[in-house]
Amino acid sequence: MRINTPSELRRMRIALIIGAVLVLAFMAADLMLLPSSMYQLYIFDRLIIQCSIILLVIAVSYWRKFIQYRSFVFATLLVALTYSNYWLIWVCWDEHNFIFPYEGTILYAFFCVFALGIPFKLAITANFMNILGFLGLMWVAPVYGDRVPISAAFVSGSLFICVYARYRLDRSVRKLKETNDRLLKLSKFDPLSDLLNRRALREQSEKLIAVSKRHKVSMAVLMLDLDDFKKYNDCFGHQQGDEAIKVQARIMKEVFKRETDILGRYGGEEFIVVLSDIEKAQVETHCDALLGKWKDAALEHAKDAKHPLVSCSIGVAFAQSVGNMTIDYLIDEADKALYEAKKNGKAQYVMAEAQC
Ligand code: GH3
Ligand code: MG
Ligand code: MG
Repeated sequence: MRINTPSELRRMRIALIIGAVLVLAFMAADLMLLPSSMYQLYIFDRLIIQCSIILLVIAVSYWRKFIQYRSFVFATLLVALTYSNYWLIWVCWDEHNFIFPYEGTILYAFFCVFALGIPFKLAITANFMNILGFLGLMWVAPVYGDRVPISAAFVSGSLFICVYARYRLDRSVRKLKETNDRLLKLSKFDPLSDLLNRRALREQSEKLIAVSKRHKVSMAVLMLDLDDFKKYNDCFGHQQGDEAIKVQARIMKEVFKRETDILGRYGGEEFIVVLSDIEKAQVETHCDALLGKWKDAALEHAKDAKHPLVSCSIGVAFAQSVGNMTIDYLIDEADKALYEAKKNGKAQYVMAEAQC
């Protein structure tokens, strides 16, 4: 998925700062609960270990490749914070006979997985390590006495729910993205030919003409129209006609392969190609290739059609320099050239020099 890196980084740093502030807020609450003999130990764990780890991650977020490795860094952060908490629970119990609560473990997991956005696979790995760590802690230091089983069940259950919720969320986001991509494609592309629809064609052509003006490069607009297509439909049926439209689109894609070439369905059986920074001779070669490929396709035409095989006529408006021309003007000129091609006998192209 494409992300807006600067705003995503800002969001992550804000989440990390919120995390550090939450640790500090909990410190104030915990200090009210703890005997003063444990202050030093507690402050060491929270300030020197946990806040330092969070600050270290904030510093790492300025690393050039951080975005690429962020999920791994956050999963490591989750495990590090959790195990530093286990260490505190253990030392409080071992050295001070004090039962430190385990609930922080659950908060760390939910914060890191949802606020920092650890994806499912890493979330399950990190939380599995944390569950094992908690069970190990209960094994060597049964801090909660006869409440050990229920405490272990609470921690394991909560971390499992956290991972499951992440799975559901990732799945929903993925489905939403797929739907969004499909809608975007539908809004831009013509479903029959899989070429740009009229609106997208216009939008992209206007951008290309602006770029061509700025770089003072040539442009060509080609208008293609299937010959005697009404007769083809009448003879072979509308469905077969749709197949011929697909052939036209395939041929266009085979001929125009540059990333900047714009191919679209203008309407019905009319198509437009917009080319930039191209020689007149290259355009002629492309037109010959288009007509040649129609011959190779050898699609039988209706008996009363002008030619025995299906073909198209092409009108080209070529502008050596775009000057103050608009895309509508170039399309108009291509349309006039197309009219000439039809008048001259179809299955051919006519090129017109568009003048400023
Ligand atoms: P010409 O050689 O002068 O272009 O003659 P033509 O019969 O092709 O005339 P025109 O370009 O006006 O043809 C339009 C025909 O194209 C009419 C319509 O039946 C057919 N057509 C338009 N859109 C579609 C489509 O999506 N599918 C099919 N099968 N036919 C279409
Ligand atoms: Mg037409
Ligand atoms: Mg036609």
